[in-house]
Amino acid sequence: MTHTELWKAALGQIELSLSKANFVTWFKNTSILSFENGIATINVPNGFAKEWLENKYNLYILKALKSLDPTTQEIRCIISQNNNTQQNNQTVKRLDAIQGGISAQAGAFTRKKIPNEVSLSRNSGQNSVFESHLNPRYTFDNFIVAENNELARAACFAVSQNLGHLYNPLFIYGGVGLGKTHLLQGLGNEIMRQHSDKRVKYITSERFTTELVDSIKNQTIDQFKRTYEEIDLLIIDDIQFLSGREKTQNEFFHIFNALYQLNKQIVISSDRPPKAIPTLEERLRSRFEGGMIADISKPSLETRIAILETKAKEKGIALDSESIQFIATHITQNIRELEGALSRIMAYSEFQKVPLTLSLVQKVLGELITRSKKNIKQEDILRVIMDFYGISENDLVKKGRKKEVAHPRQIAMYLMRTELDTPLSSIGEFFGGRDHTTVLHAVEKIERIKETNLRIKEEIMSLRDRLQV
Ligand code: ADP
Ligand code: MG
Repeated sequence: MTHTELWKAALGQIELSLSKANFVTWFKNTSILSFENGIATINVPNGFAKEWLENKYNLYILKALKSLDPTTQEIRCIISQNNNTQQNNQTVKRLDAIQGGISAQAGAFTRKKIPNEVSLSRNSGQNSVFESHLNPRYTFDNFIVAENNELARAACFAVSQNLGHLYNPLFIYGGVGLGKTHLLQGLGNEIMRQHSDKRVKYITSERFTTELVDSIKNQTIDQFKRTYEEIDLLIIDDIQFLSGREKTQNEFFHIFNALYQLNKQIVISSDRPPKAIPTLEERLRSRFEGGMIADISKPSLETRIAILETKAKEKGIALDSESIQFIATHITQNIRELEGALSRIMAYSEFQKVPLTLSLVQKVLGELITRSKKNIKQEDILRVIMDFYGISENDLVKKGRKKEVAHPRQIAMYLMRTELDTPLSSIGEFFGGRDHTTVLHAVEKIERIKETNLRIKEEIMSLRDRLQV
């Protein structure tokens, strides 16, 4: 079998495991360059195909080639110089149809036609309508402000009053279900409400990548960039998914710079701070760090109660304070879960036609709680702390004055208080009969320094994660 035949046979197999569209898009213009010492070198038309074949489809290719030639060990892709202008017309048309379909649902305003856009007739449906992709359900008004999100909310509000000039870029980070998307979309909706002439675009980084890749395939990258450069407020949600995508980061960097230089506002969200996103290009990281960074942390018990009260009222659910307290103490991780619990309770009570009581709430949530939440005990906190700081139980618990254990002990006290709501006096007892004021002092101190000391804050986040596994 020649190399060409080998590749053809491999393609035949790969085709069976992918959708037609994906196969055509990524494998159409590939060929095999060489096959030596188990290394197959594949010619690909562009950097995007290289990225996708090497990362996403690597295993498919390897599997197919191995089944034909068991000596196969590795795939390498190189960008060929001569076939990058080839296009598959059918793919382009199909993508046009999809994009046309999406555009047709647009609820936003129409973009001005730029004269030379007309010549791009193959893609004429693609960008003629400008979409903000905002969901009107998310507003500043229905975003509940509490101690865990007030900085982020204040930053977004300030930006809404001073677009492009105050905090640029604005970077909001926090775990899942804590309200990042709500807040960012709320900002977008507020701008649309205040200024109907402003262009707002909300997009997830994954969607951004897809659009970019499509525009490269369709040879409309210039138009793609131009559309972006006309935006007044660009909101990119979940930027962590750009991690490892060099090409996309590169294009994003250029778009970012162009907008930034024009004083256009950029708002970004992520599940972690810029410096904790792996394989984020250094220049992007420093751009992000050059603006304003605000976080959203997990809601405290009081906040969870406040959120439940407000949401129950909004949904017209009559819940007594005991039931609210029960939900808030058992569902602690995020706001999406709190909303989920409320919907479940409401559905159950409507369906069964039974009144909402504490025992019903306990029954409905029973399964949810045991399934989703690990029951953390004081011992777990102790174990995680000992492990993390490398200290012994004896040092941590006994009443010594060793300086290096003071900090871990304070963190342990803080976690027992915030994670388990353990009374101060019990925590004191647990740590060798210390006074409850000592515990209070420790908890307050950690609470205070974590606001200004990013390292401590991340330490705590990491410890909390360890408690969940
Ligand atoms: P994230 O993007 O951080 O994962 P979302 O913004 O999707 O979280 O929030 C999850 C759900 O919780 C949404 O339905 C959102 O409306 C709600 N939510 C989050 N934070 C708040 C808040 N502070 N006030 C009201 N609703 C909130
Ligand atoms: Mg989100």
